[in-house]
Formats: sequence, structure tokens, C-alpha cells
Amino acid sequence: MKLGIVGLPNVGKSTLFNSLTKAGAESANYPFCTIDPNVGVVAVPDARLGLLADMYHSAKVTPAVIEFVDIAGLVKGASKGEGLGNQFLANIREVDAIVHVVRCFEDPNVIHVDGSVDPIRDIETINLELIFSDLEILERRISKTVRGARNDKTLAKELELLNRLKAWLEDGKMASGFTTDDEDEQAWLTSYNLLTYKPVIFAANVSEDDLADDGASNPHVEAVRKYAAENGSEVFVICAQIEEEISELDDDEKSMFLEDLGLKESGLDKLIRASYHLLGLISYLTAGETETRAWTITRGTKAPQAAGKIHSDFERGFIRAEVVNYQDLLDCGSYSAAKEKGLVGLEGKDYVVKDGDVILFRFNV
Ligand code: GDP
Repeated sequence: MKLGIVGLPNVGKSTLFNSLTKAGAESANYPFCTIDPNVGVVAVPDARLGLLADMYHSAKVTPAVIEFVDIAGLVKGASKGEGLGNQFLANIREVDAIVHVVRCFEDPNVIHVDGSVDPIRDIETINLELIFSDLEILERRISKTVRGARNDKTLAKELELLNRLKAWLEDGKMASGFTTDDEDEQAWLTSYNLLTYKPVIFAANVSEDDLADDGASNPHVEAVRKYAAENGSEVFVICAQIEEEISELDDDEKSMFLEDLGLKESGLDKLIRASYHLLGLISYLTAGETETRAWTITRGTKAPQAAGKIHSDFERGFIRAEVVNYQDLLDCGSYSAAKEKGLVGLEGKDYVVKDGDVILFRFNV
């Protein structure tokens, strides 16, 4: 899963990104740690893994991961080539969701590009750039479709959708608000990879003082919450500066620090959880002496496709899955005890994998 971080200059994106990559660097164990200076890989916090690993005396623990892409350079006029211009927009096309950082902290030492703190205005500025960029995509698509549409019913139908979508965006609206019951249209809509069609999580960047009540007394945060609720997005409150400090601490220091601030978990952990939830993702687990590991799947994934996350051979040669709920396994103390109690299910290809399933796949090679 890949998340793109966007926001106007000086709102705290780099600070947030740095804390993410530092936190990520701490929890090693995955193969693609440093792909690119703009990409950070972070582990999805999951307490179940450690406990399972203890039970199996696993040599290695591998968490699920999320990739964050720092998409700097989004400024007013970006779609017209200002700032880093359109190049960065190409980078966001491939992300699964967007984390939109908005400034909700007042600080006379940090200049705001538009002179004052106003998160809704900032959100609209960024959205407009995304809309412009999507319009370009649509226009290109329209000119490709127009000719063929004269004697091809399917293309004519697509062209009609494209024109409707274009009018929608020209109205200043995001593609995510555009709905259709038609299956073809739905499939096309998804295939265009429009930026404004991607799920958005707002990260309201507040000062340290606003953390304790989760931004409730900060009117900027309230405005963002209202905006997000109206637009089907999630909001989480973060203090990027504090996150950067936290990311430099080890686990014990981190818990103490959070306790002092009256917090249960860090903003990053909240962000990761929020994105997981937003994208409808869950984790199933595999456990053994060599490795205990979490695997990311979409809610509703069936056993063979879940197995395919491990290896395509597992999916192709799938025979069955031996499944035990994580908590049951832990309560029983061992796999064989869980089996004796009849808590290990033998599941076939139609089984829908659940969050926290501990699975052993049987397959033909
Ligand atoms: P970017 O341009 O969006 O990447 O913003 P930066 O992360 O570079 O932050 C811009 C400035 O704001 C830096 O001087 C940061 O130290 C400062 N900053 C970032 N987050 C916070 C925050 O939560 N509170 C305060 N007071 N300053 C912050």
C-alpha cells in the first residue's frame, strides 16, 4: 500500500515525512527500506506479532508495511507548471490514498504562503490543482475516444461518461463525489486513476498544546473536521514536530513520553491505523520458527488470493487453508492444543479471510 503526502509548502509535510522514515528505519526487517529519498516504508503497528513470535520462538518478525511518498512541490499553479510542476502529479497517480497535511498551528516564525492560517482555503487550493490535473487526463482521454466513438457503441458510452465527468470537475468538484450505478461506468471511473478519486485523509497539524484534547479547542481543526465529514474523508490530529521528536526515541522512552503528553499512541500510529481502515485493509498472520509475519489484504479477500500474497504458487496450487483465530491460538498456548480443541478450521477456496486469522496454507507445487 502506498500513501502520498501532499499539502501546501510550510505546513509540516517534511517534518511528518522525516519522522515517518526515522520511525521506519528503526523497525528494520523488510527488504525495501530505502528505495528512494522520497519514499519511506513504515511498519504497521501490530501487537499480535510479538506475542505470536514468542510462542513460536520465531527467528524473525515481519510486520505489514505502508509506503509513504513525499510529494513536495505542490503549490498554487502546479498543474500549470509552477513549482516542480506537473512531474510530481505523475508521482501521486500511483498512490492508493492521499494524506493531505493542513496547517492548523499558529506560529509567527513559520511563514504561511498565503499570509494566514486558514486550512479550508489551503485545502481548496490543493484540491483545485488536483482537479486541473485530472481535467488534463480527461481531455487527453476524450480526444483519444472521440473518433472511435462514431461507430463503436462502447466507446460512445465511455465518451458520454467522460464528458459528464469533465463537466463535474469543471464545476470545481472532486471525482470522488461523482457516483454512478452503471457497472461499465464504475469500471472506467476506477481505471482513469484520477487524483481526485482517491481516498483522502486529512492530517491536521497542530501545536503541542492542542494534542491533549485532540484539537477540540482549535477552531481550525473543527473546520477541517466539518469539511472532511461533508466530503467523506477522515481527519486525524497530529503535531509533526512532536512526532519528529518521538521518532528519535526507543520504545520505552516513547511510551513514557506519550504518557507525559496524555496520549495512548503516537500520531504516526494513528495515521497508519486510519489509512489501513480507510482503505479497507486487514492483516492475516503466518507463524513459525523461521518467521512470524503479517500480510496485508483487502477485506473480503478469499483464501487462495490471500495465499497469493505470499507466493503466486500458493494461489495456483491452493488446496486448503488451516485457520485459527489469533486469540484462540494464544489462549490455547499452542497450535496442537488449538487443534485438539477443534479451533483450527480446514477452509476451502471460498473462505473469506478475517483480520487476525493465523493461517497455514496447503498447496500443490
Ligand atoms: P513543508 O514545507 O510542508 O514540508 O513544511 P516543513 O515540514 O518543512 O515545516 C515548515 C516549518 O514549520 C518548519 O520550520 C517546521 O519546523 C515547522 N513546523 C512543522 N510542524 C510544526 C508544528 O507542528 N508546530 C510548529 N510550531 N511548527 C511546525
